[in-house]
Amino acid sequence: MAEPFVYTANPGRVIFGEGTIARLPEEVERLGLARVLLLATPQQEADAERLADRLGDHSAGVFAGAVMHTPVEVTERAMAIVAERGVDGVVAIGGGSTIGLGKAIAYRTDLPQIVIPTTYAGSEMTPILGETSDGAKTTRSDAKILPEVVIYDVDLTMTLPAALSGTSGINAIAHAIEALYARDRNPIISLMAVEGIGALVRALPVIAADPADKAARSDALYGAWLCGSCLGAVGMALHHKLCHVLGGSFDLPHAETHTIVLPHALAYNAPAIPEVMTRLLPVLGRDPARALYDLAGAVGAKRGLRHLGMDEMAIDEAVSRAMANPYWNPRPLDAGPLRALIARAWAGDPPAA
Ligand code: NAD
Repeated sequence: MAEPFVYTANPGRVIFGEGTIARLPEEVERLGLARVLLLATPQQEADAERLADRLGDHSAGVFAGAVMHTPVEVTERAMAIVAERGVDGVVAIGGGSTIGLGKAIAYRTDLPQIVIPTTYAGSEMTPILGETSDGAKTTRSDAKILPEVVIYDVDLTMTLPAALSGTSGINAIAHAIEALYARDRNPIISLMAVEGIGALVRALPVIAADPADKAARSDALYGAWLCGSCLGAVGMALHHKLCHVLGGSFDLPHAETHTIVLPHALAYNAPAIPEVMTRLLPVLGRDPARALYDLAGAVGAKRGLRHLGMDEMAIDEAVSRAMANPYWNPRPLDAGPLRALIARAWAGDPPAA
């Protein structure tokens, strides 16, 4: 018998393939934009400059100041350029950090956004913005934040370093895992979740062995789109909360933290979600939590929070922060088992059976 559900689709246009970046000028025209500002990190400035050349008169130049965690000071610098140059749209090329800057501008101005993702983090498919001000992170959701157009070009992901490809891909899988047991889960998003996990689980070990494998890169980006769509459509639970707490409190890197925590968060929830564990069988086998731990090993990722520089003394603080603001999770939060979860993730042990 089908479960009752409510499904709200996010609006948006998605273009996927190889060489799709060539379609940027026509997408700018389709939106009726005359002067777009191109956004990038300092590392990807040259990519943004090439896009500016393609756009000719429709380019208002490049702002290559995007950094992790979307600090408000950086957004304010970009906003000054938006005002000075009469910018009427933004084009973000990069990972979640650059996309976050584009979203921060769109939230303040409602300017249309075209996003060209080059990692697997999935921010491009969500109406969510996380910003930092004086070291504190605030997260908000708003229709203005959701990008209007997303252009996925497999060619642009070929340079994503092998290590970041693995952790960014597992970061994407985390969105889909939590979508399957979300309180507001629905049949469309669950289908996308299983398909996305399958594509990434197949592709990531191939990319780790040969980052130039085009077919695997294509599968991974396809999976990342599906998993990002899951993140944008339904609520997340324990895993995302824990990563938010750990990343924010101890300044741990985003994708690596997700990669370490995911097997443990799934093992914690497993007793409460037997139907989800069955659903994961075809893509992750008989022990999905262990399979995710093994996948992290197969892509050469670090598997203990201690390897990211977290102090063992910080485990108790992490537990109390994770317990501080109650939130929905399929298995109720209990400080004892939660401490055991974080301790295992800290040590790099396999997830609890
Ligand atoms: P990132 O954007 O910080 O990128 C990491 C580094 O890799 C950067 O230096 C970037 O320039 C470089 N890079 C990206 N793509 C590359 C490529 N193809 N080739 C070479 N170098 C490349 O990393 P991320 O993991 O994509 O994003 C993390 C951030 O995104 C976090 O701040 C996280 O909170 C946020 N995020 C937000 C959402 C959301 O829905 N709001 C979702 C996921 C992530």
